[in-house]
Amino acid sequence: MTDNKYKYVIVGAGLAGATAVENIRKLDPDVSILLIGREKHLPYHRPPLSKKLWAGKVTVGDIKIQAQDFYDANNIIVELNTEIAALDIPGKAVTSIANVDYEYEKLLIATGAVPRKLEIPGGNLSGVVYYRDLDDFIRLRQAAVVNSTAVVIGGGYIGPEIAASLHENGVDVTLVIRGKYPAKKILPKTVGFALSYKYTNRGIKILTDDEPVSIEKTDENYITATKNGAHLTSDIVVVGVGVLPDVPWAQKMGLEFDNGLLVNEFLQTSVPDIYAAGDIANYPDKTLGFRRRVEHWDNAFHQGITAGKNMAGANESYDYLPYFFSDFFDFGFEAVGEVDSRLETYTDWQEENVKGVIYYLKNNQVRGVMMVNIWSQVDAAREIIRKGGKITVGDLRGAIK
Ligand SMILES: Cc1cc2nc3c(=O)[nH]c(=O)nc-3n(C[C@H](O)[C@H](O)[C@H](O)COP(=O)(O)OP(=O)(O)OC[C@H]3O[C@@H](n4cnc5c(N)ncnc54)[C@H](O)[C@@H]3O)c2cc1C
Repeated sequence: MTDNKYKYVIVGAGLAGATAVENIRKLDPDVSILLIGREKHLPYHRPPLSKKLWAGKVTVGDIKIQAQDFYDANNIIVELNTEIAALDIPGKAVTSIANVDYEYEKLLIATGAVPRKLEIPGGNLSGVVYYRDLDDFIRLRQAAVVNSTAVVIGGGYIGPEIAASLHENGVDVTLVIRGKYPAKKILPKTVGFALSYKYTNRGIKILTDDEPVSIEKTDENYITATKNGAHLTSDIVVVGVGVLPDVPWAQKMGLEFDNGLLVNEFLQTSVPDIYAAGDIANYPDKTLGFRRRVEHWDNAFHQGITAGKNMAGANESYDYLPYFFSDFFDFGFEAVGEVDSRLETYTDWQEENVKGVIYYLKNNQVRGVMMVNIWSQVDAAREIIRKGGKITVGDLRGAIK
């Protein structure tokens, strides 16, 4: 037994955790709430780390979800620099690596994801930046002086975003990607090649169908050797090759896990008083009809709301269909549903590869929609996906503008 007893304990002071505590407090004004975070920063938004912070559109101070005053005013205890390492399900307690126990009545696990590491010689060098946290931004921002050189590894979202941001800040960038073009998992071929052209046209070198096999640190810089025989010398190496759900401790303690913590429609794990939300949660998507784990801002935000409310007794089903967004230079988009380049696609351009809508189809039904440089139309896209039914190209032409 400990004196550290709270009605609600939230592990993971990121977007989902921060949103959950706000929503618990709205429904349950007097009870004790503890938000525990491994980082030294108050919860903040991550999307600006690879985009707006580099464009000088926002500052580090602007990306906080709430200031300390908010937590003080709402009597929410926030313990930063605290990593949870164990879970005692029968004893209803979590334990930090400093061996402090925290007892809960209801627990939310919102620990997000950690970058996948390169399993190659030099993959663990301390100077190699696996890009995820505010501290990674601070470190990279300091290193990214004008005319420095960077090797950016990974063709998903983070790699192309960071490559663009470094380039815009005067860094000479080489992007190493496994596929033939960036964002290959979501972009159809023609759009992907047009995006590649945009990058190379601006002066970013892209090594396609390639990947690093070793990274070496010399006195002066890094040398990245690739499978296809390149030896890239650079001041900076940044890696964005995907993320893994960050919850080894809870997984070991017996919560059901399969590519994330398995939750039901109320975001409860296999133990009803323990909830999970955000990047960590593998949930049943009601609209799409299958389970998935989503690694995007909007999902973490809305799951945080639902988990917080449900912990405080609301009993709401998570029926929301989250969207996601990204910016690759001026190729900005919002997308929703099954945005998978392996599906059949129909493109409805107002300006080819610049402005328009990409529909992702399965059995002549719209499963996903990406709106390129068309904003505030996510609800219209959701509606088309939800409606289901067979469609024709004629139905889609001009459907979203
Ligand atoms: C650079 C970057 C850019 C992004 N850009 C976009 C974008 O443009 N569009 C988009 O839709 N999404 C984007 N995302 C994804 C989006 O930010 C995430 O989906 C979202 O942050 C997930 O929120 P979360 O609360 O689940 O996890 P996180 O935000 O990762 O928060 C989890 C927190 O839990 C902490 N934690 C982990 N384990 C423990 C532990 N054992 N004890 C205590 N604390 C722990 C972590 O340190 C972290 O602070 C981006 C992500 C990154 C990294």
